[in-house]
Amino acid sequence: MTETRTETLEFRSELRQVLHLITHSLYSHREVFLRELISNASDAIDKIRFAALADEGLLEGDHDFKIRLLADEAAGTLTVSDNGVGMTRDEAVENLGTIAKSGTRAFLEKLSETDPEKRPGLIGQFGVGFYSAFMVADKVAVTTRAAGAGHTAVRWESDGQGTFTVEPAERAGRGTDVVLHLKDDEKEFLKEWRLRQLVKQFSDFVEHPVVMDVERSEPGPDGKGEKKTVTETLNSQKALWLRPKTGVTKEEYESFYRLVSGDYGEVAKTIHYAAEGTTEFNVLLFIPARMPVAFRWGEAKVGPRLYVRRVLIMDHCEALLPPWLRFVSGVVDCPDLPLNVSRETVQRNPILDRIRKNVVKSVLKALEELKKDEPEAYASFFKELGTVLKEGVARDHEHRAALADLLLVESVKTEGGKRTTLADYVAAMPEEQKEIWTLSGESREQLLGSPVLEAFRAKGWDVLLLTDPVDEFAFPALESYKEKPVRAADRGGVPDAVGAPPPAEESARFASLFATLASRIPDVKEVRLSSRLTESASCLVAEEGEMGANMERLLRNAGAGVDVKESKRILELNGSHPAVEALRALHEKAPDDPRVESFGKLLYEQAVIAEGSKLKDPAGFAKRVNELLVKGAIDPA
Ligand code: ADP
Repeated sequence: MTETRTETLEFRSELRQVLHLITHSLYSHREVFLRELISNASDAIDKIRFAALADEGLLEGDHDFKIRLLADEAAGTLTVSDNGVGMTRDEAVENLGTIAKSGTRAFLEKLSETDPEKRPGLIGQFGVGFYSAFMVADKVAVTTRAAGAGHTAVRWESDGQGTFTVEPAERAGRGTDVVLHLKDDEKEFLKEWRLRQLVKQFSDFVEHPVVMDVERSEPGPDGKGEKKTVTETLNSQKALWLRPKTGVTKEEYESFYRLVSGDYGEVAKTIHYAAEGTTEFNVLLFIPARMPVAFRWGEAKVGPRLYVRRVLIMDHCEALLPPWLRFVSGVVDCPDLPLNVSRETVQRNPILDRIRKNVVKSVLKALEELKKDEPEAYASFFKELGTVLKEGVARDHEHRAALADLLLVESVKTEGGKRTTLADYVAAMPEEQKEIWTLSGESREQLLGSPVLEAFRAKGWDVLLLTDPVDEFAFPALESYKEKPVRAADRGGVPDAVGAPPPAEESARFASLFATLASRIPDVKEVRLSSRLTESASCLVAEEGEMGANMERLLRNAGAGVDVKESKRILELNGSHPAVEALRALHEKAPDDPRVESFGKLLYEQAVIAEGSKLKDPAGFAKRVNELLVKGAIDPA
């Protein structure tokens, strides 16, 4: 049954907060309301145009898509009208007042933390654009009629204070009129010059004409000025991606980037080309200089826009780029695709497959150029978005080699915060070094203190320091780079060139002690002499191919549902360390002395701490240290 009376409904509570925050904290950028309303109108036109592809009748003869601005000085109202899809009563109630969007809460939380300059970008990203109207209006009335026969119009109205009303209304044809009753001190938004300026600034690339009736004086036949009303289109509607690169200015690219990405950050690299050959298509993509704000909170929608002959098919076509390039935004326009491709069929479309291959290649090439030509810009890009690229190394066999060239990694020899490429690392390897060495852990500082690096350091071999969690997946997947195997410094043995294996008689001397320790320290599966220690007494290593300590920690921290079996480690002791020698002598003299176990555990516990893991029995450790301390204090000599 259709409602015939006026209903008063309440805004969802979260929306009230959104309204409050928008009106208060975005006030210095309140002019963005126009961009938001125009973009909603444009979306609504895209929707009807898209729906009409399947059902031409929906248009009811009205093909003349337009967004119309109407400033009424006398009434103090600004109206943004469109002949888009419109809304039914229920849609209006849901969309403009009650629906809880996933991003709403995040929006509330982040708005307060964000630099005021960057705030305007947030509104669009979080789908709360409509409410920005309340920054300039003390009342907003929306008259809307959904496309298709059988729908009547509805009027939605609110002062943005907590409730809104809906009632039946009249409207000729489908579409929406958003009428803003401007606040007294916001009347500047009725001025022609101001509206013109704002449309140029924010909505120039909007594909549909934004029109306004303006008065022009034209010289009449009697020579006197005659006032005439003409309808003028305020935006250029230029599809930048279809224009030759040479004719596009930096500013045009920048504002287009803002339009498609909703991000206010800088662009590191613009990729613009027309592909020719079996499939023709136009590409305009952007690699951001930093992680886009919404992206950081996991709120960003990913994938470039997909157009077919300038008709927007999809706002975010994920199928165009692999997940590890999800920071890339822009437009791909392919006239050869059928207009009715959908999210489902796009996945299996051979043309799209070809486009995707080509686009991925171009993005990788652009990144390579950035790395070569602007190393500093690339380094700061990589610092924020390298993690995403590394997912590709871990998962995408096809592009692994190309991605490996793009990696930047800290190493023992780089200054803190600086990174080397794998190519530079390999080029600097001494003749006798045949492998790429890595060590992973939580931080550079912790890794630099790791005993497993001692022999490498002594030898002057560099070791890559992996502190990004994704490194644990990326580097093992890489296996090798330029035919040099990638190996972990804390797994398996080390090459003879770094540390020669201990002579057999040396191992024999320690055999009995090691057997005792292995049986007394439950978390250790083997005790052996080390070839990688030069200063420390002990360290822990894993078998080649086994999970290392850092990986175990990461998986355990990942929590929920991950059952990480603890793998036992190999305890390596430094045979030339006085503490190890002293323990050997004690064991030889008195194998059953309880101090053998206690001191052995201390050597193990030092190694646990050095690799950045937690002690299982910190109280026991403290007790053992204190026993020694007491002895040391009684007999300081
Ligand atoms: P967003 O546009 O980001 O989703 P808004 O708060 O701006 O968020 O709008 C909420 C919803 O209201 C839109 O998603 C759309 O469904 C609907 N809407 C807004 N303006 C219009 C319009 N001019 N025509 C049709 N629907 C609209």
